[in-house]
Amino acid sequence: MISKNLQNAINNQIHSEIYSSYLYMAMAAYADGKNFKGIANWFKVQSQEEWEHAMKFYNFLVERGAYVIFKAIEQPPSDFKSILQAFEATLEHEKKVTASIHKLYELAVKEGDYPTQVMLHWFINEQVEEEANAMEIIEKIKLVGEKSGSILWIDKELGSREK
Ligand code: MG
Repeated sequence: MISKNLQNAINNQIHSEIYSSYLYMAMAAYADGKNFKGIANWFKVQSQEEWEHAMKFYNFLVERGAYVIFKAIEQPPSDFKSILQAFEATLEHEKKVTASIHKLYELAVKEGDYPTQVMLHWFINEQVEEEANAMEIIEKIKLVGEKSGSILWIDKELGSREK
């Protein structure tokens, strides 16, 4: 049996993953609004991945015979200063998610819950990748600058991201 404490913490994590999905879809809408279809594509794929993260936790709770409880999702920001700022906000957000995954892991260790620890290994690796991806794009944008021609190149690059 999974403890009440851990069950609550995983339900909070489900909320955070679904919020992430919502946030990245808001960023996709911002990019689509500026006609950057490739950047919008990148955020849409990202959004779908976040939904899958939520479902991984969902399935884990179901398998452990625990309850899934959905919480209200807050409204994400709808406007961003620039494409660069949207990716900087992505990196900041992922750092917060990493911290909450690590807290979840600490709780699973404290409670001696081995299945939760093993399940979280995937997420710990995934967060390293999430932060690296956002950092790489930020570096690229800073390198080429935010002039329209350069952003169009980034747009073309990010348009090739697939599921
Ligand atoms: Mg995630």
